[in-house]
Amino acid sequence: MESVKRIALVAHDNEKRGLAEWVEYNWQTLIKHDLISTGTTGHLIEETITAKADGVRPENLRLTILKSGPLGGDQQIGAFIAEGKIDIMIFFWDPMSPHPHDVDVKALLRVAVLYNIPMACNRSTADFLISSPLFGDSYEPQVKDYGDYLARPLG
Ligand code: PGA
Repeated sequence: MESVKRIALVAHDNEKRGLAEWVEYNWQTLIKHDLISTGTTGHLIEETITAKADGVRPENLRLTILKSGPLGGDQQIGAFIAEGKIDIMIFFWDPMSPHPHDVDVKALLRVAVLYNIPMACNRSTADFLISSPLFGDSYEPQVKDYGDYLARPLG
């Protein structure tokens, strides 16, 4: 993992304000990295960073906005993780509401654990992650060897 990280950012509706506040606080660090976000969250992040930068979208803001989460955005992020294209995920999921895309949320959390992606699901963990010396350094997460699984005998 290079020192410039590819950071996925996702927040459910009740958590969007919390994520926007976290982005407001950390925007100067975040714009040094590649940001990838689900649709509505991504537009909010763009607005938040632009507002912090005196109303002008920073030229160096590298933000990829995918589909909205319930319309496939969570699955797009999961596919990026499986392809080794995400280094860190900030995913403020809502523990108090059911979602039409609950299965996608579960799949995204699962694939992030499978590939040993550093993942923050609340603000405290996000604070710990972004203040880690490893955040701005290179780091290679150990991924379990699934060779035995792939070579398993089929009945
Ligand atoms: P959104 O998706 O950023 O498009 O709202 C988030 C989610 O619910 O996964």
